[in-house]
Amino acid sequence: MIVTPYDKFLFHVQLIFEEKRLKTFKEWPFDDDKPCSAQKLAEAGFYFAGSAADPDAVQCFLCDKALDGWDEEDDPWEEHLSHSENCEFAKLKQHEAALTYEQLTNFKKQLLIKSIKKCAEELKRDVDDLYNARLHKIKKFVRALKSRIAI
Ligand SMILES: [Zn+2]
Repeated sequence: MIVTPYDKFLFHVQLIFEEKRLKTFKEWPFDDDKPCSAQKLAEAGFYFAGSAADPDAVQCFLCDKALDGWDEEDDPWEEHLSHSENCEFAKLKQHEAALTYEQLTNFKKQLLIKSIKKCAEELKRDVDDLYNARLHKIKKFVRALKSRIAI
């Protein structure tokens, strides 16, 4: 499966919404009445990003901060902000219903900018690889010419 930066953008745009983030938590070790429930994690911007080897890994839809090793008494908002102090979502510390249209649009804009930057980085890497491959061929050709001249 090829995952492009645009695919990631489309995935993360859906996760702007708490309901979508909550749906990613199929299994979570702590009950709903605990401070570190799936509901509280989704409220704090996290979606489930775990695996069999890492069953309590979550990630922020906006800043991509990945966290695991949760305790049932952890406060997801506090953990989010303490590990990613520049996250625009975590800094707001607001329930989704309190967010304005402008704030939601701004998250989408940030995700799009991140996706475009990632595409540009991948394109630059491809161009660099192509350039280096051509340069290698030219150097090889020049060496071959020099050796013929020397004879
Ligand atoms: Zn974040």
